[in-house]
Amino acid sequence: MSLRRFYKKITPGFEVVDTKEWLKKKIIEIYLKPSPETPKICSKCGHRLEPAKVGEHFMKVRTMDIHGFKTYFCFKRPKHNCSSCKKTRTIKIDWISEETPHVTEEYAWWLGRLCEISPITSAAEFTGNDPNSLWRFDLKRMQRMFQHYKIPKVKRITVDEVYARKKKHYAKESRDNRFFTIVCDLDTRRVVWVSESRSKEALDEFFHAIGEERCKEIEVVAADQFDGYKSSVKENCPNATFVWDRFHIMQTFNKYLNDERAWLNNHMCKGEIKRLTRGKFKQLFSKKSDRRTKAETRHINDVMRDNQYFIYLELIKEGMYQIFDSKTAEDARKKFEEIGEWIKQAKIFYELEKWWKNFDMGWETFKNYFKYRITSSLSEGVNNVIKTVKKRAYGYRNMTYFKLKILQVCGFLNSKWVPMNFQ
Ligand SMILES: [Zn+2]
Repeated sequence: MSLRRFYKKITPGFEVVDTKEWLKKKIIEIYLKPSPETPKICSKCGHRLEPAKVGEHFMKVRTMDIHGFKTYFCFKRPKHNCSSCKKTRTIKIDWISEETPHVTEEYAWWLGRLCEISPITSAAEFTGNDPNSLWRFDLKRMQRMFQHYKIPKVKRITVDEVYARKKKHYAKESRDNRFFTIVCDLDTRRVVWVSESRSKEALDEFFHAIGEERCKEIEVVAADQFDGYKSSVKENCPNATFVWDRFHIMQTFNKYLNDERAWLNNHMCKGEIKRLTRGKFKQLFSKKSDRRTKAETRHINDVMRDNQYFIYLELIKEGMYQIFDSKTAEDARKKFEEIGEWIKQAKIFYELEKWWKNFDMGWETFKNYFKYRITSSLSEGVNNVIKTVKKRAYGYRNMTYFKLKILQVCGFLNSKWVPMNFQ
């Protein structure tokens, strides 16, 4: 096949009239002209245009590089009158990208794929494109993919929140709006949905998107102790069991445990013991005993010998780990009652007492953990990727971009999953 016929294949409706090369600048320009026999279709409405040409404008469209030479198609795009639009319109060209008229469909696919796997700045530098235009292109591409996005079938999901904004954008904005609600499929460990807020409504949005029928198929939803998510699940998923995930329960518990440690350190410790129960040592007190090193165990033993309250603290903390190791909800309940006793005996653990009462009220929900042992909500991998994406997205401070990027990198909004011939 001659090169001329080859280009006729990849730029249908046009033929090559000339080429120019700049060896030093490493640029190739391929000059095209529309073939007379091609039907002229309106680029807006798809209607056949009137035959007489009424104008044209010059276009320079980047395509795949040839041997490291930036390669452009240069041609005049004809304008005709459209009887349907009642306006002058340019002819439709299938091989030009939908996102931007400056690149071909082929090059757009390649560029988009590059943006999926590397930061915009690197992709821009590597391809010699302007970072801002590339960012706009990437956003448009993701938005278009999102229109065709189908949420995969899910049965077991986790609901999480991530902090999305650096600081308040508008004075009246509520704190909830600075979070994203992230829905993950537990079986594939991928993000299937992102809502731009943290509220009951944010999760409702997901359930409405998948529809009533598919909500019935959801078996289990794991989330933190935030009430909004729980009531959304109750309202939308008739067959789902709601579970608090272990990670968030331990996070809350450790917060209260640390408050007590700080109080003891302030009011009940002197001299060397005061030094041993604060600062860099504070995380030692929430560490599971069999995870401590020998030196750490000695450290804790010294503290406990000196101050009996730290013995209670240690018992309560170990008890909490044992709850999760329990085989049944009944065993866990026994352990929990024991913890309650220790808190009472110690007499001064007001914070932990509050925590215990609260937990006791939620016991019916907590019990579900022993049916579906869900440890951590967002997988470590997803969490790390979100952090990296956040760093990348902050350069542009656009929440929609950030949201779509999470779906792209941690989920299914990418060319691996969404076929690119969706238009
Ligand atoms: Zn038209």
